[in-house]
Amino acid sequence: MSIEKTDVVVVGAGQAGVAMSEHLGRAAIPHLVLERGRIAERWRSARWDSLVANGPAWHDRFPNMQFSGDPDAFVPKEDIADYFVAYARKIGAPIRCGVDVTRVTRKVGGSGFRVDTSHGTIETEYVVAATGAFQVPVIPPLVPETAGIAQMHSASYRNPGELPDGAVLVVGAGSSGVQIADELVRAGRRVYLSVGAHDRPPRSDRGRDFVWWLGVLNKWDAEATPGVEHTTIAVSGAYGGNTIDFRRLAARGITLVGRTEGFENGVMRFADDLAVNIERGDANYLLVLDEADAFVARNGIALPEEPEAREFLPMPACVTDPIRDLDLARAGIASIIWATGYGADYGWLKLDALDDKGRPRHQRGVSSEPGVYFLGLPWQTRRGSSFIWGVWYDAKYIADHIAKQRSYLAYAPSPSREIANV
Ligand SMILES: Cc1cc2nc3c(=O)[nH]c(=O)nc-3n(C[C@H](O)[C@H](O)[C@H](O)COP(=O)(O)OP(=O)(O)OC[C@H]3O[C@@H](n4cnc5c(N)ncnc54)[C@H](O)[C@@H]3O)c2cc1C
Repeated sequence: MSIEKTDVVVVGAGQAGVAMSEHLGRAAIPHLVLERGRIAERWRSARWDSLVANGPAWHDRFPNMQFSGDPDAFVPKEDIADYFVAYARKIGAPIRCGVDVTRVTRKVGGSGFRVDTSHGTIETEYVVAATGAFQVPVIPPLVPETAGIAQMHSASYRNPGELPDGAVLVVGAGSSGVQIADELVRAGRRVYLSVGAHDRPPRSDRGRDFVWWLGVLNKWDAEATPGVEHTTIAVSGAYGGNTIDFRRLAARGITLVGRTEGFENGVMRFADDLAVNIERGDANYLLVLDEADAFVARNGIALPEEPEAREFLPMPACVTDPIRDLDLARAGIASIIWATGYGADYGWLKLDALDDKGRPRHQRGVSSEPGVYFLGLPWQTRRGSSFIWGVWYDAKYIADHIAKQRSYLAYAPSPSREIANV
């Protein structure tokens, strides 16, 4: 039986895979996109029910297609998935759904790769791993399953009604953790929120959303600098979009605690870092306001000041007199939601493209293994890389790289030069 062949196999049809297909298609490079689920599967099945985009519709999209509806609205997750389905249709992306890539190896006795899938084998010259920055939910191994508390990652949380009755501890105060804690307290739950280091830009200033400010201040295009890459950002588009303000969350009944440090005999231990984390988040918030002010002054733009944006509620008692040890049973905590981020799983990539921790070895997505590319990684080329609007530009860079490599390989000296060399 003959083996199917193509020039590029793209693994994954989330936004990264769709963007990759658009740029490969424009460059007329034959390719296939293989997706184990549906297009944009993770927007459908790995996010909670009420999730909306963190940025407004005019911003969190690809350049060549707008969302229908209010451009300033925050698009619900199912509509985001529908957008990518429609986008894939618009560009005629050759996507095969329900195909799991199980193994990629170098082809023996020839150039390129052998891609084994749940539906047969494909041979290809290039492979793009577009499997995302948020692949495998990570839960720190602190609380044993025998502790009698329901535990889940934020990727498995769906809505307050699915949790057992009782109080909830949410660990992690990035965008996922704060949004879930907020939803739970609004649903009448008693909530504890464990807050680590974070940035919390103002939702808007002088009538412009923070995504606009980070754009004009050139922060989405900031390149990775050591120590900056992994800063957690707490933002939310929920309920029309509001600044994440931990003082207000506390005023609404959420008990803030420091970074979760350990667990013993039913007691959770929190670090003595809550006030510092809140103050650093405030400093980040004020920095964005200061930079916005400086931008307005420099450019003479007429955007009205918002002096009230600098007014803070007093520090809540849970911050000034923080809980360090919490007996979970006594506090009535029946569930823990770990909003503690994601890891990578490239178990299918049997090539020299990963470091000893299994992370991609690459420069701007171009792997150390010739012919292999990564897409959608956090800070792949810039801050925006793992987000909807950023991945499109990284995909273009990779398509250009593949086109360039192909043109070198296609080079043949003109016959006259070959004769001259004889
Ligand atoms: C809770 C949450 C909220 C977010 N909100 C926003 C937001 O508002 N705005 C924004 O810009 N970004 C947001 N992001 C970040 C980012 O946009 C999303 O994570 C997005 O899903 C990443 O797209 P991707 O294509 O890189 O990866 P994914 O969407 O994860 O797609 C990867 C695809 O690869 C498939 N796959 C994996 N392995 C294989 C295999 N071996 N074979 C075949 N297929 C495979 C998966 O099924 C999946 O469909 C959010 C992230 C999270 C976690």
